[in-house]
Amino acid sequence: MSPAVPEKQVLTSFQLSKRVGLTLCVLSLIFASIADYFLYQSLVSKDFGLIDARMQNYQRILSHAGLDKLIEVIEQEQVDSELWLIEISGPRERRFSNQSQPDESLLRLTDPHWPVLNTEKKRWLVRNEISDNLSFTLGLGSLERQQQQVAYRWAMLFTLLPLIMISLLLMYRIHRHALHPLRDFLRTSQQMQQQTDLHQRFRVSEPDTELGQLAEQTNRFLDTIERLFNGMQASLDNVAHDLRTPLARQRLRVEQLLMQPSIQNDPETFEALATISEESERIEKMLTTLMDISQAETGTLPLNKQPLDPQAIARQAIEVYSFIAEDKGCEIHLQSSAPCSLVADELRLRQVLLNLLDNALKFSPDNSRIDVTVQCTRDSTVIRVQDQGCGIPEEDLPHIFDRLYRGDKSRGSKGLGLGLSLVKAVIEAHGGELKVSSQTTKPSGSCFSLALPNT
Ligand code: ADP
Repeated sequence: MSPAVPEKQVLTSFQLSKRVGLTLCVLSLIFASIADYFLYQSLVSKDFGLIDARMQNYQRILSHAGLDKLIEVIEQEQVDSELWLIEISGPRERRFSNQSQPDESLLRLTDPHWPVLNTEKKRWLVRNEISDNLSFTLGLGSLERQQQQVAYRWAMLFTLLPLIMISLLLMYRIHRHALHPLRDFLRTSQQMQQQTDLHQRFRVSEPDTELGQLAEQTNRFLDTIERLFNGMQASLDNVAHDLRTPLARQRLRVEQLLMQPSIQNDPETFEALATISEESERIEKMLTTLMDISQAETGTLPLNKQPLDPQAIARQAIEVYSFIAEDKGCEIHLQSSAPCSLVADELRLRQVLLNLLDNALKFSPDNSRIDVTVQCTRDSTVIRVQDQGCGIPEEDLPHIFDRLYRGDKSRGSKGLGLGLSLVKAVIEAHGGELKVSSQTTKPSGSCFSLALPNT
């Protein structure tokens, strides 16, 4: 099993667009605020201009014709009291006001620097002048200015919002397009890892770009890795092949020596030769397995395929391990669906099941249970071996099918680290698939599941 590939992926293009979008929003807000400020300032200075002009006019009348004439002129003018505030007051009393009922709650702004955000409430923009012991207050209502400000703010919103949305959409599309080769890259490398297929190469669609050059460079790396990997494999196979025959000859010679009475009468020599024979057998077995794996992987393993009853094969394999299971107080249960048949090499299939059962028993605690399930469908047969053992740590899972790999927990136990490599190679040589799921926390255990086509 290869390590899980994250299912839900956050797209870089989405993240980039999100960041650009955020920056765009902040910049637009700053830009809109600055524009709002300047617009407000220009409206205010325009209003002050109107107030100043009127103030100068009234002061001219006051100095030439006196207060009574001024009040008369103001009354004749019939200025809109909603728009204009005109107040004249002496040191102690109010002399004139064009407001029937002066509303003291209305704000009077004499020096407004900052734009008013609440544009609903009316305010007076006022100038105050004192001359000839008279206080002159001229105010201009803020409603018109506020309306202009509101209209401007809406215009700003309706212009900036679609602009931001369109820019974001464009940005997202550009990023998606620009990052397409990277997604391709990721997909291919995931496939490579999942299928442990070193033949695959990255697609180079635009060789002149940085991404195209990266793909080309990585392909060159992969060529080197594949060459080294194949060379290593070939050397291992050659060594295995070349060592097997002299080793078999050596073991035969040792066994012949062990039969001689002179050796049998010398316990020390006999024991040494017996150990040599045992070790030679172990190395021979290892070399044979290595050769089998190599042949199965290259498609040259001779397979004597014939119709088989998978349930019978499973039963026979369980039978082989029944004594060892009994010794450990373990129970091996066989569950199977309706009788069925599949076409496979009987010896190899039995070897596969024996390997899986051997591991299941080896890594299970005493008095535990092992379940072997045979499930047949119309096209395939699935055989599962589930144990209640220690489980396989997540970091070991991608390597357990590698040749000579042994997990930390199995270092003390017997084994060559070739069992699962052989199981996988044989199953794949049959056109099948081997999967594993495992859990190291309670309830721990591993489940090896092989699927073989029925024909
Ligand atoms: P070996 O059993 O000779 O060590 P294998 O190729 O059969 O070699 O297994 C490789 C490794 O996979 C083992 O060393 C062990 O760490 C792990 N393994 C295999 N089967 C099981 C299992 N049923 N439970 C726990 N670990 C397992």
